[in-house]
Amino acid sequence: MSKNKHPETIALHGGDYRSDPATTAVAVPLYRTTSYQFNDTDHAANLFALKEFGNIYTRIMNPTNDVLEKRVAALEGGLAAVTVGSGQAASTFAIMNVCQSGDNFVSSTDLYGGTVNLFTHTLKKLGIECRYADPSDPSNFEKLIDDRTRCFYAETLPNPYLRVFPIKEVSDIGRKYSIPLIMDNTAAPVICKPLEHGAAVVVHSLTKFIGGHGTVIGGCLVDGGNFDWTKDPKRQPLFNEPDASYGGAQWGVVVPQLTGANVSYAVRSRVVLLRDLGAPLAPDNAWGIIQGLETVPLRMKQHCSNAEKAVAFLQKHKNVERVIYPTLHKGEIGERSKKYMKGGNGALIGIEVKGGVEAGKKFIESLKMFYHVANIGDARSLAIHPATTTHSQLTEEELLAAGVTPGYVRLSIGIEHSDDIIADLDQALGASGKPSLKAVS
Ligand code: PLP
Repeated sequence: MSKNKHPETIALHGGDYRSDPATTAVAVPLYRTTSYQFNDTDHAANLFALKEFGNIYTRIMNPTNDVLEKRVAALEGGLAAVTVGSGQAASTFAIMNVCQSGDNFVSSTDLYGGTVNLFTHTLKKLGIECRYADPSDPSNFEKLIDDRTRCFYAETLPNPYLRVFPIKEVSDIGRKYSIPLIMDNTAAPVICKPLEHGAAVVVHSLTKFIGGHGTVIGGCLVDGGNFDWTKDPKRQPLFNEPDASYGGAQWGVVVPQLTGANVSYAVRSRVVLLRDLGAPLAPDNAWGIIQGLETVPLRMKQHCSNAEKAVAFLQKHKNVERVIYPTLHKGEIGERSKKYMKGGNGALIGIEVKGGVEAGKKFIESLKMFYHVANIGDARSLAIHPATTTHSQLTEEELLAAGVTPGYVRLSIGIEHSDDIIADLDQALGASGKPSLKAVS
């Protein structure tokens, strides 16, 4: 159904779901159940042994989640997906599915602050080392590889810099060494498809644009099905060495044999990580996210067109020192938005309000329609001051490396009418600083 279809169609019809097999219900039903009746003891044994695929227990799978997983996978052009309780859980699983104690991975420095905490501190305590590479030069990733490097990690459209990640350049480097590139595509669903550019795995915080209505927390991992996990067995031991926790399964070998598809990454994250670490997405939340997913292609168009109009307005405003937006970067970094972003450059805009921290704070407090919240990707317009909130647990050095200057304000432009968005920005900017105008380089 999803093959050769457009995102607007996949969002409504994708994922093999036509109607509920039990009731013929057209809208995706919410299956509130923990467990599933087995046909007989052989059936139960086969499910546990992965000789047959089917529902066992909602910590590991659920029919409502299944539709969401298949639709997100189809939207991204991947083969399979696994939903988890939050975007943070998705990032954690993404790394733990390839790394064990003593291993390392190379991540872009341009990251969500919560991911920096996870990578720098929590994973370190588990013996997994994150090495940071500046993505302005893709070869920085290659310089940090050693025998125990298991993956690369980056965000497509990371704030605050909002420089589009060089997906193909870095994934090409990784593939030479059998190192997969994992892309967090939270800020760019529909408008960028990292798997088409060589990424092996996509991660989403479904909490943001895909859910879209600020009602539900959720996360997802999408297996691109385009990476050979067995090519260099020493590079990917978790997919090639026998897994004592699952009857000696060699995941990279056994999953293609059992399923006929290259979905070892998705299957391992489901049957090992969801089984052992928990953190499933609750079916109620999966259902809520499906309501958002069905309109995400339409909303992304409106988010992006409103953002373009807001950028044009802000660039001319006398009280704005600097505007940060993917297309405003000069040279090769600006060119990347043309190469990777199709149908828009996203909803996120950074601004430095003239007058520094105090002016930035006053601007946020003066907004009447924008909400002052930690989130991005809501249908409503949102604003926040990252240095004192989302990124406040970072050191000064980490803040600067992440591009969070003291006066930076992050805007997530919603789908309201653009005139109303601009009117709110205008009245709030009037409350701060002195005249100045400069676009970001
Ligand atoms: N990745 C990105 C790019 C994010 O912006 C966020 C949250 O802000 C996350 C991951 C974590 O997602 P969640 O809040 O759903 O745990």
